[in-house]
Amino acid sequence: MSKVINCECGLVVQAQSDEALVEATMKHVEQDHPELVGKISRDDILNWAEEAT
Ligand SMILES: [Zn+2]
Repeated sequence: MSKVINCECGLVVQAQSDEALVEATMKHVEQDHPELVGKISRDDILNWAEEAT
């Protein structure tokens, strides 16, 4: 089951598993939102995730 995160910057992160989604989102945050590194937890990311249609 695939999940997506719609980032506030407009980027869409999509992944096939929770683990992959967390990893991809963390990578994006490190690159584009370094001020959020350390403030976002794995649970936050999973709470933001939506089922991809
Ligand atoms: Zn972003």
